[in-house]
Amino acid sequence: MATLDFDFRNQIIQSDIGSTLAYCYQCATCSGACPVAQVTQGRYNPRRLILDALLGLKEKIFGKENAFNIWGCTVCDTCDEVCPQKVELTEIFTILKNMSIERGEGPEYYTTQASTILENGKAIPMQPAIERRRDQLGLPKVLTPDVNEVKKLLESTKLTEKLPKKEE
Ligand code: SF4
Ligand code: SF4
Repeated sequence: MATLDFDFRNQIIQSDIGSTLAYCYQCATCSGACPVAQVTQGRYNPRRLILDALLGLKEKIFGKENAFNIWGCTVCDTCDEVCPQKVELTEIFTILKNMSIERGEGPEYYTTQASTILENGKAIPMQPAIERRRDQLGLPKVLTPDVNEVKKLLESTKLTEKLPKKEE
């Protein structure tokens, strides 16, 4: 039987951006409008995630096997726009995603992209083919980011401590 963890629930409600969690009355308007819920036939379900958070059902939210329950969200903000109770769903999901990262359960595609930004100063490194195409189209050169500055910023946010260590 699932354990209700009220400390976990209160941790969200007492945060600046999570207090609206308590206003949800489970109308399911969010799930009806969510594009990810539609394409996954409800396997991803924002209404259920909000309910699990409201009940403090931590074990249904976290754990590698439940990762899609949180990380399936693409942060398109549609649910926020349609919720009649003005529940800040995507902000609440961001709190859950941050907790998931703290637990070392972030999906590999996220941490890999964060490592790419750390190493290159941007998520998608410039490629010669793209540069050639831009030249042909008469587009201006893309400035090279200051990788050291980006690294310094990311280190100060402690991102580097959250990324998986590279094997020597
Ligand atoms: S639309 Fe708002 S009130 Fe309705 S279930 Fe979703 S979060 Fe709850
Ligand atoms: S922000 Fe996430 S949960 Fe909300 S509608 Fe978009 S994909 Fe669905």
